[in-house]
Amino acid sequence: MKNDIKEILLTEEQIKTKVAELGAQISKDYKGKDLIVICILKGATPFMADLIREIKIPMAIDFMAVSSYGVSTQSSGVVRILKDLDTGIENKDVLIIEDIVDSGLTLKYLLENLSSRKANSVKVCTFLEKTERREINVIPDYKGYDIPNEFVVGYGLDFAEKYRNLPYIGVLKPEIYS
Ligand code: 5GP
Repeated sequence: MKNDIKEILLTEEQIKTKVAELGAQISKDYKGKDLIVICILKGATPFMADLIREIKIPMAIDFMAVSSYGVSTQSSGVVRILKDLDTGIENKDVLIIEDIVDSGLTLKYLLENLSSRKANSVKVCTFLEKTERREINVIPDYKGYDIPNEFVVGYGLDFAEKYRNLPYIGVLKPEIYS
């Protein structure tokens, strides 16, 4: 797997530090609220697992899976729900956990969909953001790192379902996906 990586963008250490910072901020901001953290499958699972252990207030978790049609390294904006939440979110303070916001199309869909379910609030925490690729004006409330416009894998992010288990964020060699 390592041979397919052009460069390491974020090390395990950088990831750990950032996740602890985000967890501390979220714990502070959501104190006294009815927090439910929603992990967007599959990419956000390592981030979610690390982040919830840094959140030091009572909270619940749920999972949602969506897919966007399109070529493998680009989102098309046509989003469909593959797995919906198990629980209702009425009156709850929802925090969507995303791996990466690229064009913003997936996030826009998720925000609209979850906001229509009468939650008290719906916010977003993404580990990565590619700001230069933004097509839709959605701004994550919490963010780990801004990254350049390159296709990255690791820490939950895949290419053709591979590389999710890399403990760091790396740039995939273009010859692997082209
Ligand atoms: P958006 O709808 O914001 O364009 O795309 C969001 C989704 O596209 C992410 O949840 C992720 O699944 C995928 N994606 C976007 N950029 C990358 C990337 O650099 N690497 C990987 N592995 N997936 C990406």
